[in-house]
Amino acid sequence: MTGNAIDLPSAQMLCDTEGCGHVELVGPRDVRKYVGSKCPKCDAVMVTEATALEIESMIAAIDKINEAIGPVESSGQGVNISARVDCAGDVVEASANWVKP
Ligand SMILES: [Zn+2]
Repeated sequence: MTGNAIDLPSAQMLCDTEGCGHVELVGPRDVRKYVGSKCPKCDAVMVTEATALEIESMIAAIDKINEAIGPVESSGQGVNISARVDCAGDVVEASANWVKP
């Protein structure tokens, strides 16, 4: 089975308000739909235009890398990358873990 070298799984959108902790599962390519949307728990804006642009430019870079590499054989192993982006589009927390099949 073949697939992209870099997968784009669903993303967790975490509210930045201290003590809120509300999380929503979103499709990364759908981020534009959430610009200006309010947190159902504390009413803060969850996605700003800056955040959407940051995520869209990251997705565009991933698409270019996948296109350059072409389809790859799926081995079931890879690296799970997690990043938390604040309302200004800055990465405030990031981690990577090796995933084995
Ligand atoms: Zn909130």
